[in-house]
Amino acid sequence: MKESSRKQGSISPCAACKLLRRRCAQDCVFAPYFPADEPHKFASVHKVFGASNVNKMLQELPEHQRSDAVSSMVYEANARMRDPVYGCVGAISSLQQQIDSLQTQLALAQAEVVHMRMRNMPSTSDRPAGTGSPVVASSKFMASQSKSFYCMDTVDQANMAESLWSY
Ligand code: ZN
Repeated sequence: MKESSRKQGSISPCAACKLLRRRCAQDCVFAPYFPADEPHKFASVHKVFGASNVNKMLQELPEHQRSDAVSSMVYEANARMRDPVYGCVGAISSLQQQIDSLQTQLALAQAEVVHMRMRNMPSTSDRPAGTGSPVVASSKFMASQSKSFYCMDTVDQANMAESLWSY
């Protein structure tokens, strides 16, 4: 479809050629992925990676993978512009921290389930009372901890989704 519309030669240049102020050739490597109506996409990757590097990276890929490559480059470039120090590594690291904290919460919850099951077993009723209290105290502490983890994660996630996908 794009190919036939480009046959005329009178079409407007793609976003890349427009920004680079050059003639958009019929076989322009950028044209299928950087349409003129989305100039910010090329502006981002050009600023972070440089047009010639983007060109080279696309040339080295088979055509069916270029669209995904462009999407990920745009994503990376936007993250790098928003966070010049960490770029999208900041998002990855934050998600890994969330995984760690959720795995800790899960382990605590599973331990608590085991503990509650053991307490409900008939054989435990003749044990002296009070042995379980430190565990109860610590699980209460953990519950308050996980609540604050949860609130923090929710806020982070919302901000991240908003900031990362809004290009
Ligand atoms: Zn072009």
